[in-house]
Amino acid sequence: MELIDKTYKFDLSSANSPKFEILLEKAKNLLVFRNEISQKVCTNSQFYITKSKFDWVTHFRKKIELCNNQDVTHAIIEVYKNYANKKAAYKKATTVKIQDKMNTILYKKNGKNFKKGDTRIFDVVMKSTKMTMIVSYLSKYMNDGLLEFLRTSKSDDKDKQDFRDMVLGYVDGKHGDRILVLAKSKQERIIKKIFEHAIEFESLTFVSCTEQKQNIITKNKNTQSIYNAFITIPGQPVEDGKITIPTKLSKKHHGQIGHYYKDANKKDQRNTTYTIIFNDKKGIEIALTRKKADETVIGKTNYYGVDVNVKHNLFCDKHGHEIDYDRDIFNDYVKFLRYCDRKLNAKAKKNGEKRKGIKLSNKDAFLKKTWEIRVKDMLKRKSNKLVIRAIELGMDHIVLEDLSHMGRGYSKSLEFEGFKYSRLIRLLNIASLKAIIQSIGNKHGLQVTFVHASYTSQTCTCGCIDKRNRKIQEIFKCIVCGLEAYADAHAGDLIEDRMSDDVLRSKLMNCKNGVYTPKKLKRKTIKEILIACYDTNTSTKNQDVIK
Ligand SMILES: [Zn+2]
Repeated sequence: MELIDKTYKFDLSSANSPKFEILLEKAKNLLVFRNEISQKVCTNSQFYITKSKFDWVTHFRKKIELCNNQDVTHAIIEVYKNYANKKAAYKKATTVKIQDKMNTILYKKNGKNFKKGDTRIFDVVMKSTKMTMIVSYLSKYMNDGLLEFLRTSKSDDKDKQDFRDMVLGYVDGKHGDRILVLAKSKQERIIKKIFEHAIEFESLTFVSCTEQKQNIITKNKNTQSIYNAFITIPGQPVEDGKITIPTKLSKKHHGQIGHYYKDANKKDQRNTTYTIIFNDKKGIEIALTRKKADETVIGKTNYYGVDVNVKHNLFCDKHGHEIDYDRDIFNDYVKFLRYCDRKLNAKAKKNGEKRKGIKLSNKDAFLKKTWEIRVKDMLKRKSNKLVIRAIELGMDHIVLEDLSHMGRGYSKSLEFEGFKYSRLIRLLNIASLKAIIQSIGNKHGLQVTFVHASYTSQTCTCGCIDKRNRKIQEIFKCIVCGLEAYADAHAGDLIEDRMSDDVLRSKLMNCKNGVYTPKKLKRKTIKEILIACYDTNTSTKNQDVIK
């Protein structure tokens, strides 16, 4: 069961005008303050952009009329967060590389707008050298105190210190002056481009945090009132320091009030982050966050066992109904992955480095992201189909093997187009299927349970557990009783048993609040439980085998 943060808004328009005025004036002051910081950052960007969030807070903190420390700190943090993109752009732009080589790809055939042999793509390969690393460092960090700092301070980190010594060596060397001029002009150009325009803050909305003994939201004990709750914000410029505003809590929309309660810390204080929102239509609102469980469906007993694999299909139930991948997407994705592999290997070979540290080009990294989204979308579509199928069959409890361990079952040598299946499963992010099916299933009112994955492919209903039962991937054939079945369907059946059979369920699964999870068991123990159970069931079980 996953807990997610969800934000809910509460209407504060019942605030009387003095309270409203205080919050509005605060918001205005904080807005001015944010823009003031933003301007400062852009006039001395090299200084600020290399500093941490903590440094910013210490540096910019000051007294602001009507505001408390938390208001001010959160205003600074908001500006800091908004500059993250510029910070990244600065970092990227100051990193100098030189052109290593240029690959050209030519057209192989004549086309409408090109001829065979015309240039199709230029692919410029860049590399880092000692020199580019030094210029990068200097363009990034150059300021009036940098050289002094390098000469006087020592780092405990040996690599860092070696690098600093190298920088100094170059700076003090024959071409030192030229390097410095080069780095400085580069930095100036980049700063002008990125920080010419300060980010302008326009919204009055502000974030802050309370620390108080009570919860930020409390019940209104007066049941006659149309407002059933109060919001209390401490640390305000009023007589007792607290602003309390009545509000309406709708159980249907907001959930229970208790979901917003916080545990007290050691000082018996409760910390709550909140956002005050001003807008034209609703006036003023407060947004609070609570942990919300994805509504988990429980208590369903029409079990539907499903085998998940990557080889023949994606899903297969005990009747042998399959739902396959979108093979076009699957194949193209594999093609793309192989292309990435080739590129990375070539790069590694060229630089004589280990493959691990090599990164894809920006263009390829972007393509990879796009592919990952496409694959995930496909997994969602297929999971949806599975849930619909279960409903059509009158089933309400999908049982699957625990996908986080999937891939171990495949023999090490098994490959698809040069890809080890275990790796392919990781690249397809099959583990994410778990959350996807759970969420889609629950949305449709179906319970979803994951059981141990061990021995689902080798177990016979006669109690024989043996690797040799599955000599051929597609066919299950028991070496003891001779039972023959379509392997994936057979696995689906066995997976279902682990929930539908009372003995197996009680021995293999934990149940808490109606939610089943696999017990922590050794593989050996699981095997013993399975053998014992199937052995005694043999006579009845073998009669309804699936062909
Ligand atoms: Zn058997």
